Amino acid sequence: MRYSSTIQSLSPSVTLQLSARAKEMMQSGRDVVSLSAGQPDFPTPAPIVQAAIEAIREGRTGYTASSGIPELRKAVAAVYSARRGLEWTTGNVVVSCGAKHSLSILIASAINPGDRVLLPRPYWVSYPEMVKAYGGVPVFTAEEGITPREIEAAAAQGAVGVMLNYPSNPSGCVPTAGEMREIADAVADSGMWVISDDIYEDLCYIEGGTPHILDFRPDLKERTAVVSGVSKTYSMTGWRIGYCLCSGEWARLAGMLQAHSTSNPCSISQWAALAAVEGKAEEERRDMHRAFLERRDLICSLLSAEEYLQFDRPDGAFYVFAKLTVGGPLDSTAFCSELLDEEGLAIIPGSAFGAEGYIRISFAASDDDIREGVKRLGRFLHGRYDT
Ligand code: PMP
Ligand code: GLU
Repeated sequence: MRYSSTIQSLSPSVTLQLSARAKEMMQSGRDVVSLSAGQPDFPTPAPIVQAAIEAIREGRTGYTASSGIPELRKAVAAVYSARRGLEWTTGNVVVSCGAKHSLSILIASAINPGDRVLLPRPYWVSYPEMVKAYGGVPVFTAEEGITPREIEAAAAQGAVGVMLNYPSNPSGCVPTAGEMREIADAVADSGMWVISDDIYEDLCYIEGGTPHILDFRPDLKERTAVVSGVSKTYSMTGWRIGYCLCSGEWARLAGMLQAHSTSNPCSISQWAALAAVEGKAEEERRDMHRAFLERRDLICSLLSAEEYLQFDRPDGAFYVFAKLTVGGPLDSTAFCSELLDEEGLAIIPGSAFGAEGYIRISFAASDDDIREGVKRLGRFLHGRYDT
């Protein structure tokens, strides 16, 4: 059989692969600490679970409208309209099987074969593969972040869209208001569409939250898709509910593609997500946020004692993205694979995010795992690189 050469050219998801390998090793009895997965380790808050149980009991178990139940779409539109001071309505919202699926159908609906899409480095592992899967060509910024000049240059070379992700996975970076204003103005001049992946928007550790492109240039609303969901904020990664807010036409196309591919996202999960979006688990959300902030401080203080690592304290998300300063170039994939085999510590290589020589360490883990993980990393580094 001849398979699709486009799909054959994609790379596997390193984040999912490595997390799965760590889990397998644990199940086979090995002592493994996993600081790999980007998922909260808390149970889903009880009021959300309760809403799901009620949905099952009340028999809300059939197909729903393929773009999501009107109640959830309406609630998402209301929350984000208030948050950004803009007006979205139900027709601007598509609820999908996780924010990953929202991204996928938005990209599919926005590009034609050969279209270039600009991705700031370091980028989340799935962006380039999604762009390629739909016939597009990912193009990247030269260094970390994105400058107005790079936006201008990419547009001049035919880029049709740009993907933004703040707080960033993998770096936890949040731009300043000044930086975001410059990005927003450059994007507005470029004519490109924008997908703003805001999945970590509620996991921000700085006063005032994450500056948003639409706060500076609300006139970009018609060509900006905002993506978010309940996975990270409410510890609901397995429930698979994400959503997007965009122009009516973009939502119509993305919704149509979804209808032909997955139908609707899980009906029960949608009712659970509605409880989350309506604020039924605010206390639990705040507690989890506080725990992540404390873990961020713990891991940063432990890692800062490590001479072979250089990193900026993340302002959001739950990852430390560290440069390995071991002298000379380094294959981060081999590094992480050997670290897992020798020390039983799972972390993600920077190569997955277009940043060779870096590692991503998740602090969505218990204090004990964070302490043990940092200890194992230090032992591995010193065993290898001390002279
Ligand atoms: N975007 C980024 C940057 C992420 O880290 C993730 C986490 N997997 C997603 C999107 C997808 O989230 P979800 O689990 O809701 O599909
Ligand atoms: N987003 C998480 C991560 O980067 C989960 C894995 C994935 O969806 O790829 O680790």
